Amino acid sequence: MAKYINADCRLCRREGTKLFLKGERCTSKKCAIERRVGAPGVHPTTRKKASEYAIQLREKQKVKRAYGLLEKQFRAVYDRAVQMRGKTGETMLSLLERRLDNVVYRLGLGSSRAQARQIVNHRHVTVNGKIVNIPSYTVKVGDVIAVKETSAKKAPFEGIKDSRVIVPKWLEFEPAKLTGKVIALPARDDIDLTIQEHLIIERYSK
Ligand code: SF4
Repeated sequence: MAKYINADCRLCRREGTKLFLKGERCTSKKCAIERRVGAPGVHPTTRKKASEYAIQLREKQKVKRAYGLLEKQFRAVYDRAVQMRGKTGETMLSLLERRLDNVVYRLGLGSSRAQARQIVNHRHVTVNGKIVNIPSYTVKVGDVIAVKETSAKKAPFEGIKDSRVIVPKWLEFEPAKLTGKVIALPARDDIDLTIQEHLIIERYSK
């Protein structure tokens, strides 16, 4: 499994924005971005005007880190988007949203994408009744994503049945059954991170 060894909050501080990598902490006052902790390092950069290259690089890193991917994996998503119809940037974001680990996170079955990925890796999740342990699996409209029956009583899922989970409009979720369904493809406005995807496209198309 792809894994960054840097502390999660450090990545947010580097990008200067919330990447929501640490579950509940991200919406609390303990969040480093809320506390306005600056960029990491002993001598964080003070250069005022970043180059075009640096701006494009930062945007790519931000998205890559938010979804927890390494460069090779992220590039593969971009390459796939290039081959598909539509605007490459929006298609790329849609493919990222449709990753199974992200869907598990969006359904509230994991408190962060990292936890959601672990849940998938540990074979707790089924798609259309079959166990899928591939975090990068791309869901499609009509897919039913559920917690395996024998896993439903395990720690990560305690309390979810009684909670009011708010899911994006392209998904629907039945907390009592720990089951979700893909009812549409994610649209651009379903992605809640502030992203300028055209910068990533410019970066890769050089
Ligand atoms: Fe840390 Fe989450 Fe805040 Fe990022 S958003 S700085 S991961 S608490």
